[in-house]
This record gives sequence, structure tokens and C-alpha cells, in this order.
Amino acid sequence: MKRYKKQHLSLYNSLSKTKEAFQPIHEGAVGMYVCGPTVYSNVHMGNCRTFLSFDLVFRYLLHLGYKVRYVRNITDAGHLENDGESGDDPILKKARIEKLEPMEVVQKYTVDFHTIMAKFNALPPSIEPTATGHIIEQIQIVEKIIAEGYAYEKNGSVYFDVLKFNEDHAYGKLSGRQLEDMIANTRELAAQSEKKNPQDFALWKKAEPQHIMRWPSPWSDGFPGWHLECTAMSTKYLGNQFDIHGGGMDLKFPHHECEIAQAEAATKISPVNYWMHTNMLTLNGKKMAKSTGNNILPTELFTGENEVLSKAFSPTVAKFFMFQAHYRSILDFSNDALVASEKGFNRLMDAFHGIASLSVSASSSFDVAQWRQSCYDAMNDDFNSPILIAQLFEGAKFINSVKDGSATISEKDKELLNTTMSDFIFDVLGLEDSASEGTADGNKLTGAVALLIELRNQARANKDFATSDRIRDQLLEVGIQLNDGKDGTSFSVN
Ligand code: AMP
Ligand code: ZN
Repeated sequence: MKRYKKQHLSLYNSLSKTKEAFQPIHEGAVGMYVCGPTVYSNVHMGNCRTFLSFDLVFRYLLHLGYKVRYVRNITDAGHLENDGESGDDPILKKARIEKLEPMEVVQKYTVDFHTIMAKFNALPPSIEPTATGHIIEQIQIVEKIIAEGYAYEKNGSVYFDVLKFNEDHAYGKLSGRQLEDMIANTRELAAQSEKKNPQDFALWKKAEPQHIMRWPSPWSDGFPGWHLECTAMSTKYLGNQFDIHGGGMDLKFPHHECEIAQAEAATKISPVNYWMHTNMLTLNGKKMAKSTGNNILPTELFTGENEVLSKAFSPTVAKFFMFQAHYRSILDFSNDALVASEKGFNRLMDAFHGIASLSVSASSSFDVAQWRQSCYDAMNDDFNSPILIAQLFEGAKFINSVKDGSATISEKDKELLNTTMSDFIFDVLGLEDSASEGTADGNKLTGAVALLIELRNQARANKDFATSDRIRDQLLEVGIQLNDGKDGTSFSVN
């Protein structure tokens, strides 16, 4: 029997602002769309938090036995600064600065994103469509919206008519903003603006001569607006109405609000049943962001090369740190919190590794089956990973009590304890064994490098610095960096 028949998942729907029982449109199958990165720079830890939160959702849905189609796009065109009013395309800007083709910028940062996600042991989505690969679909949606009377053309650009839409639908229902307030709070339209109202947003923009990412359309040689791509790609692969749509909270308005408006204007159907929004990772109390430079990159974390870090941290420890907070809470990044998470994770793994050697008794002094259900209860309650982790520590506490003789475990419960720990630590949370990568190759590498670190320590103790330097330098040549810290030497793979 599929687990979802017994485990009743509920999740917080940002649209209704309540926790709701999860009921997919098609029994046993889930369609989920998550807004992907805009690929003009390296993803920072804030972006990673959002993508890893949805990896947790994806993993848990799979664990429950759902067939999941998980679509996460790559924004490789159209995400204009300032919502297209006066802004530039950041990909084009970067291409000019680095003297690259825009598609070279896109390729470079898409590869970086994939590499980082793999280091974090995130599962790849089922489909990863690009905005530039779906220009025709986007043009078709613009045509539909014009035909329905909710968009107008001006000088080769097409804008969504928010006021007209609001006569028949509710604009602002996701973000809770009232159109009247928006109107009252906006300044006059800039004199050069082509829009009828400041709230209108671009569906299609005519390209200026210097804008080289351009495509032919019925209105002009131009490019699609940012919000349009997600409507086109989500409905193409998941249908006009699908189960889950996710992204960071900062995308609620205007991006997701506009997605709802576009889809309803084109199809008359509300596109998404459950909207999920992740909260922000902050640094020094302020949102991590690409634009302000207030951010930490994952590679800085893996090498320890950032002034706020005292040492390197593995991707698994970073994930463990992030999952110790619920995805809807703000989380502040700090070295101390990471150090504490590393200790906690190691304690959990020590307990897990100790299960095999526990001696068994006729009965258990702890209800393992009930504890297993508590782990599910935590995840069923809007993917509450901090409560799940607290439950895993309860399991660790029991293991240690059996070890020191103050508790007993039966043969059958020992098995169940092992399965539960492994199900939740590896399958659901997607953490990896030992502080470094837990693949078979990763373990071999860890073992081999540990031996070299030991030989280097011996060489240093013997004042044989030629040998110790040689070990460090030659490892670096093959991409393995040794990091000397207060607690000894760790390594990172570049
Ligand atoms: P972008 O590439 O800027 O479109 O961002 C990709 C994803 O990262 C979006 O879902 C954003 O909401 C999310 N994001 C950006 N900054 C943060 C942050 N500081 N914490 C959590 N998520 C973030
Ligand atoms: Zn999007």
C-alpha cells in the first residue's frame, strides 16, 4: 500500500493562508512547479535554501509513494530589473561586462547551479525547461490574453491590463494587496511610459537596438516579460490547473500574482491549488541577495574561504543547519550555528552507526513504532523538518541508552529503528553519511585523504616540511584543498 494512504499530509497554502489537507488533482500523482534561478551569477546560500526546501518537499512526496512531476525552470531571458519599466536584462548586462555571448553567461551559471545542487545531493527535477526554449508558447499565451481583452499593444510592446482584469477577477489575492491601495500608493505614470496604468506589466517588450536577445512576434522583434515564462512552462507540462507552485516569499508579488492573473486571463481557470513560499535566509539580519552583495556562496562555505567562517563546512552540514529551521521561518546564517549543527549532525550519525552493534533483548523499553509515526507526523505537518530532527535525536537518545544498558531493544525494533533513521536521514532529508559526501567514491576519497592528512601531520611533527608541503600542494593540484583549523585539518574538493 502506498504510504500516502496512511500518512495524511497537510501543507500551508499561501493563497488561503491556512494549513490544508493535501489532495492532489489526480490520485497518486503530483504536479509541482518551482521558479528556478535567473542564471547571470552564482547561486548564493539564500537561493540554495529555497531550492533545498523544495528538494525536501519533492523527496517527501516521493517517499510517500506519489508519482511526482517536478518542473523547475531556468530563467535565461526576460527577468528585467525594475519589472521592465526602466531596467536592464541582467544576463545581457553581465555578457557586456564579461565580453561573452549572453548564452555563454547562461551556460556558465546553469552549470554552476547544477554542480552546486549535486553537491547538496538535491534530486534533479523531472523537467527543467528554459524561457528561451518556450518563446512560441509564450507568444501564444499573449495572443490568448489579448483575445480575451485583458492586454493591449503599444508601440510593439504588449501590456497586461490589470484594471480591466480586476473588473472580472481578483487581482492581489495571493499577496493580499488591494488594487485600490496600489493605485493610491503609486506615483504618476512616467511621462514616457507606454502603460495605461502603473500597475500594468509587460507581457512582451519590443527590443531596443542594443538588446540582442530577441525573437520575432506579431507585435515586434522583442522578448517576453518575466512573469509570462512561468505561466507558459508550468501549464505546458502540468496542465492549466496543477497541484503545487513554489518559490521564495519575495516572488509572491509581483511575480506569482502576475502568474495567476495571466493564467486566469488566458484560461479562466485558477492555475494552482497550493502555493508554497519559503522564507528568507539572512546574513547579519538582512536578506541574502545577489544585488547587494550581502551573501555567502556555497563554494565559500565548502572551502571556509569567507571572513565570517572559522572553517569549511560540508554540504550536508549546511543542509542540516538549514533544515533545523522550518522553511516558513526566517533563518539567520552564522558560523556559530553551523558549528553547532555540525556537532549535532555528527552526534546523530554516531548514534546511527551504533545501531548495528546494539545487543537485543526480548522486548523494548521504548515504543519504536510510535516514534516512527512521530517522524511522519512532523513531516505531515507542513514539512516540519526541525520537529523531525528533534524526533531523530529522540531516537539517538534511545540508542545511547540501549548502549549504556539503561534501556532495552527487541530484534524487530532494532530493525525498525535502523530503517526509520535511514529513511528520514538519507531519503527524506537527503543528508549524506559522514561529514563528507556519502557515496561509495566519497567514502573512499575521505579515507584516502585522511591517510594523507595523517602522513602530513607526521611529517610536520618530524619537521620534514618538504614532505608536508608536497602533500598539500599535490593534493591541491588535483583539486583537493586541505584546510587547517582549530580542530585539525579538513578538506574540500574544488
Ligand atoms: P532568483 O535567481 O533571484 O530568481 O532567485 C531564485 C530563488 O531564490 C527564488 O525562489 C528566490 O525567492 C529565492 N531567494 C532569493 N534570495 C533568497 C534568500 N535570501 N533566502 C531564501 N531564498 C531566496
Ligand atoms: Zn517563476
